[in-house]
Formats: sequence, structure tokens, C-alpha cells
Amino acid sequence: MSLYLRGLAYWDTDAGTLRHGDLVVEPGPRGRLRLAAEPPAPGDTVRDCHGLLALEGLTCGHHHLYSSLARGMPAPPRSPRDFAEILELVWWRLDRALDAELVRASALAGAIECLRCGVTRVIDHHASPNAAASSLATIAAALDEVGLAHVLCYELSDRDGPAAAAAGLAATDAYLASGRPGMVGLHASFTVGDGLLRDAVELARRRGVGIHAHVAESDLDQERCLAQHGRRVIERFADAGVLDLEGSLLVHCLHLSEHERGLVRRSRAWVAHNPESNQNNGVGAFRWQGLDPDRVVIGTDGLHSDVLRSARAAFLAGQAGGGLSPAQAWRTLWNGQRYLEAHHPTAARRNDVVLLDYRSPTPIFAENLAGHAWFGLDARHVRTVIAGGRVVLDEGEILTVGEAKTLEYCREQARRLWDALSRP
Ligand SMILES: [Zn+2]
Repeated sequence: MSLYLRGLAYWDTDAGTLRHGDLVVEPGPRGRLRLAAEPPAPGDTVRDCHGLLALEGLTCGHHHLYSSLARGMPAPPRSPRDFAEILELVWWRLDRALDAELVRASALAGAIECLRCGVTRVIDHHASPNAAASSLATIAAALDEVGLAHVLCYELSDRDGPAAAAAGLAATDAYLASGRPGMVGLHASFTVGDGLLRDAVELARRRGVGIHAHVAESDLDQERCLAQHGRRVIERFADAGVLDLEGSLLVHCLHLSEHERGLVRRSRAWVAHNPESNQNNGVGAFRWQGLDPDRVVIGTDGLHSDVLRSARAAFLAGQAGGGLSPAQAWRTLWNGQRYLEAHHPTAARRNDVVLLDYRSPTPIFAENLAGHAWFGLDARHVRTVIAGGRVVLDEGEILTVGEAKTLEYCREQARRLWDALSRP
């Protein structure tokens, strides 16, 4: 039995055009979306959608769900002076404080926000060195409960010592062995020694997945790579085989030389762009030149879950020079789903739909939809979300979990986390 949505305007991402009519949403994990060529079948659920705009579910190309309980948290013991101190004083203190229950609460909080923003698929990068073992299975269960498709990985690093690195490798291997979509995660070159890099690439090869790593987010990553390894980060990763893997995802890529840009462009790797995070950390601006814009996905880097907002930020940041046209930027928003179809097909559901109650004062057509996206459309217009062919958010209400009760639980857990962070 399908969902039969009557009378909407539907952005057909594959065809790159706006269609008007009735939409059939087939049920089940392999169900598809199609424009109706026939009246509803007996048993179909028919909904009147006149006046609504339908988009495919959005994909967050790089998230850190574990940071969901950081919003409004106490300030660190002293103000960070640079990017290295932002990591040391804020994020690495936070990830060390996470236990299994905090991992679950963080995933639930992030997942609820994803649905409210029309995001139905998430590519996540997780760190919890004192609760690594079952962390990915815990996140997967929380996302399944809320209704999100997911590709998960655990952030491998030598920063917490050899036992933590070994536990991260074991957690990754166990999760990938379960057959769920995932990757091998790396923090960033400057906290990953040669032995761990080799082990990570070997594991990725054995499991047939890519590496999901932070790359040249700040100058520091390049400076330390040159000092310790005599090469730049992309050169080091290329030599280790990261760029030859299927579907490696290189996050940030701000401080790349022209040579490194060429290596990335000619490789099989994709890039994840997180414009607001770059602004927040003051690490520099992304440059599109020399990269393939069709292999750049948009992420939020755990700042929030609103990927449409991130894509708008990417478009606006590019206006200072060398950015993308409105239409090119709009295409980029959908690259996350194209990445999943190419490399994680079980997470690339084709029957995720977002219905937006977008009351435009001006006409909407295929050629100007990007203009509406950057200057009008917003997560506040999300009215209904269909994920995997079932309605998971309707008329502003989440149907899969009790939102008020879950958020109360998240706030309790956030207090517990903040208390732990307040201790010296
Ligand atoms: Zn990140």
C-alpha cells in the first residue's frame, strides 16, 4: 500500500525539474517515488497536498551527533586561543565525558532536530573514547527509532593513547561486520600516527568502505604533517591509499595546495563542506577552485542539523568570490544523496519526501527554485516528513518518538554531562 499525495509541486532531483501533479510514495526500504500516472489503488492512503512543495529528503553529509548536548554548555576552563585549543579545551573534553547513555541521548536529540529540518539521512562521525565499544550500535538504534537512514563511523585517533585507538578499531570492525552501512573514521592527520593510518586503511579495504576523515581544517594539520612526515596531508593520505578507496569522504579541505586539489579531483574521494563550522572556528574559507563541485557534499559538522541552512551558508560564503551560481549551489545540496547511492546504497532511500508549506509571494518554477531556496525556503516550512515510505513527522508533530518526553530525557542527560565537564 502506497501513500498517494495529491496536487503538489515536486522537485524531481534526478531530472532537475519541477513537476506538478500527484506523487506516489511506495512503502518499504526499497520503495521509490514517482509521479502518479494512474488514480490511487485500493488501500492506498490518499492525502490532499494542494499548495505544498515536495522535495526529496535531505542528507547531512557530515554530522557529529555526539555534540547535540553541547548547545549552551558551560564555558571551558579558559578561552581557547587557537584551533588546537578549541579541540583540546572543548571537544576532546566533551567526547571523553560521554558514556553509553549520553551517546544515546545525543543521537536522539540530533535525530529529532534532523527530522524537523527535513533531513532524513545522516552521515555521522562519532567520538566517545570512554564508551567506544557499542557506541555505533547505540547511535544506529536511536536513529532507527526516530526514522533516519544513516552511515556511521568511529573517529580513530592516537590522542587518547594506544588502548583507545585499538578499542576504536575494534568498535569499527565489529560495526562494519554487522553489515550496517558505515565507514572507517579518522580524526585528522595530526592525531593519527603511521601505524594507525595503516591499520585504518587496511580495515577499510577489508570491509570495502571508504575513510571518513577531517582534512586540513586548519593550518595546524598541514604544519604538523610537514614537520612530522615531510609531506602535506593529502599527499600523506594518498601515499597511504586513502584516496584509492571507494567513497572516502574528506572533510573541510580548507588548506590545500594546488597539487593537493589535483590529487583530490583525480581520485575517487568526495569532499564534505561545512561552511558555518569554518566560520565558527575561524579556520578559513573553503575554495571551490580545482575541486569537482559534483563530488562536494554539504554537512553541518555537528553545529546543528539544518543542512538547507548550511547549503545557504555555502552559497553566501562563495559570493565573496569564486563560489557557485545559485543553481550550482542548489545541485550541491543533493550531492549527499548521490554520494549515498554511489557508495552506501542501503542508506540511500528513494522514498524519503519532505512536504513544505511554503507560501511564496512570487511564482515558483524549475529555473528559479534555487532563488527561492537561498532567499525564502527554510526549515520552518517543513510540515510533513516521509522517511522510508512512512510518515514520521506530520503537521509539525513527530510520530516515531514522543518528542516532549525524549527532549526532557535529553535535558536531564545534558545536565549530567555538564556537571562532569565542570569538574576539574
Ligand atoms: Zn567534523
